Amino acid sequence: MAEHVRIRKTGTRDGRPVMLDDGHVVEGDELGPPTPGMPYLVRRTVLEEESAPEVFNTSPVRAVITDRGGVSRPPGPRRLTRTAVRSENPPVADAVAEVKARLDIVEVIGGYVRLQRSGRDHKGLCPFHAERTPSFGVSQEKQVWYCFGCSEGGDVLSFVERIEHVDFYGALELLAEKAGVELERDHPGDRQRGQARRRRIRVLELNARAQAYYEHVLWSDPAGAPGRELLAGRGIPEQVARDYGAGFAPAGGASGDALLRYLSRRGLGTAAEAADAGLAHASERGGAARDRFRHRFVFPIRDERGDVLGFGGRALGDAVPKYLNSPATPAYDKSLALFGIDRARPAIEAAGCAVVVEGYFDVLAAAAAGVGHAVASSGTALTTGQVRLLARWTRCLVLCFDADDAGVTASSRAVDVIAAEGLDARICILPPGCKDPDELVRRDPAALGLCIAQAQPEWRVLLDRAIGDAESGSVEARRAGAERAVVTLARIPEATVRDLYVQQAASRLELTAAAVAADVERVRREGARTPPRVVVAPPPPPPGAAPDAPGGPPPPPWEEYLGSVVAQRPDLAAVLVEEHGLQPEELGHPSVRRLLEAALATPPGTALSLHGLAAPEQRLAARLLLRPLPELRDDAGPGPLAQALADCVRRVRDASLRVALATLKRELQKARDDGRTEVAHRLAARLHELASEGFRAREGGPGEEGGPAVTGP
Ligand SMILES: [Zn+2]
Repeated sequence: MAEHVRIRKTGTRDGRPVMLDDGHVVEGDELGPPTPGMPYLVRRTVLEEESAPEVFNTSPVRAVITDRGGVSRPPGPRRLTRTAVRSENPPVADAVAEVKARLDIVEVIGGYVRLQRSGRDHKGLCPFHAERTPSFGVSQEKQVWYCFGCSEGGDVLSFVERIEHVDFYGALELLAEKAGVELERDHPGDRQRGQARRRRIRVLELNARAQAYYEHVLWSDPAGAPGRELLAGRGIPEQVARDYGAGFAPAGGASGDALLRYLSRRGLGTAAEAADAGLAHASERGGAARDRFRHRFVFPIRDERGDVLGFGGRALGDAVPKYLNSPATPAYDKSLALFGIDRARPAIEAAGCAVVVEGYFDVLAAAAAGVGHAVASSGTALTTGQVRLLARWTRCLVLCFDADDAGVTASSRAVDVIAAEGLDARICILPPGCKDPDELVRRDPAALGLCIAQAQPEWRVLLDRAIGDAESGSVEARRAGAERAVVTLARIPEATVRDLYVQQAASRLELTAAAVAADVERVRREGARTPPRVVVAPPPPPPGAAPDAPGGPPPPPWEEYLGSVVAQRPDLAAVLVEEHGLQPEELGHPSVRRLLEAALATPPGTALSLHGLAAPEQRLAARLLLRPLPELRDDAGPGPLAQALADCVRRVRDASLRVALATLKRELQKARDDGRTEVAHRLAARLHELASEGFRAREGGPGEEGGPAVTGP
């Protein structure tokens, strides 16, 4: 029953055997039923024309899905079909296909990046590198994304992997949840990951319950009266407070456990779970557990989707600490959270910038004054993670911090964090005598919007502060001013911007620009040797293996063309092999070679699956998928395509011939040098033969510059 097949081992990928068959059925039997989480040991009885049966290890099966749609895997051992043999991880492939079929890449990526339609595709600012003009493209039709700026690209899964800093399975889980596909987990490591995820989900659930409880107390319980008074005193309308989910945590009597009692009475959560969510202090020294937030006004800190990650609680009166936040929990990382982001997101997109304020009440006051695009970093100075979060929707951050020294310092540091991410910052100057945005709004609701509109570019403000009144002052004053200015100027990352401000500072301080520039360069050089002034935590590395650098030489144009063709039309790979006689190993670029192999292994009538490819091939495939190929259009006749394929294959041949000739020449030279006459003779004959072969092959079409250096007969 096994047909005659030709099997070629084409080397290993990830240390596993990779096999290609050229279109025939490969029969195989599993040795026993599959063990969840264990690699399949598969014996394939391969009837080759000339060789005996062989035993191979195939790649492990890493997950099994049953989805709600009813696609599930038949129980017990099964025969591997051709598709199953070809696909690296069949059940995972099923899950991936199922998830992808239910989701639209533009919608998923649009949840993270502001996309705009551009022709057939969508464009936006790349979330993975700093840029000002969009070079990030998403193709709905092809369901891929690619950035022409940083050469990252892939399918919807690889996008989620990167942006959420999760591995392949993490991304699959996230998307499966979105798509309503249930993943049956049986992968080693899944249990841990699953546990962490379940803990996070549990924390989010409890937070949502707690938020509803606090909100109820604020508006409908006598215990919430102090909270209502606080709001009234600050002139915050009820609707605004409700929009942001504000609430009040009651003191809870002597036992201090109002929330805990509420949760346990309704069977919503135990004290241990509440402690895990940061809502309670676990019982200590034999005492009972207590609520974390007691007699405080509380703000839910939600993510951009509206899930409550944690809380910020403000004390009433002079109680300390004035602000108390949730501790780090499976859901809450203060360096990645921004209060108000769920409300602000559409307004940020509409306004083209985000306003960053210091406090929760500043956000509420801003919203009350019609400034809906304000967010607050909660319990921390502005972090890289927060800037990156905002960078998904805007490239311009307006800093509207308190007018006190702490606020001035905080905004100066924030500028460095923002500049390091390649975003623009502007700084608001509050009117004299006004200590924060909240107070400004209370004084004059319209003033805040005006103040934001008049925010100045970050370096101009910082330079003004540095120069101060040194301008047209005494020599000593100007010298001190110059020293401060130089330190500020040295922080500007972009050379052109730096140069502009160097000139400005020099003229204001009556110095030559060259002198100021020299000092700035000196400070920059010294700065490079000393630890950076603002310490910013690096982003967490993506889990799993280090990603491959997107660098590496690109394929030559003819291989790019062939790669685009087989990426977009995998069925044409067989045409290349059968009609044009192209063999994958003739291709010079390893990624194009693997792409052709993948296309050859793609079942008829299906699209090329990116997830089976390694990262460099995924990136290449994503880019090539987006390349317009007029020859593939429905209205294009078969002629131009056949001609283009033939041309490219000829060029592949030429290139591979050139490589072969060069190698032969080197060997020949060496044989001659070593005095191995007979070997040299044989090599010379072979060289001659190859060269004339190339000559013959090139006679049909136009030649190419820089051909083989050996002439024909
Ligand atoms: Zn990019």
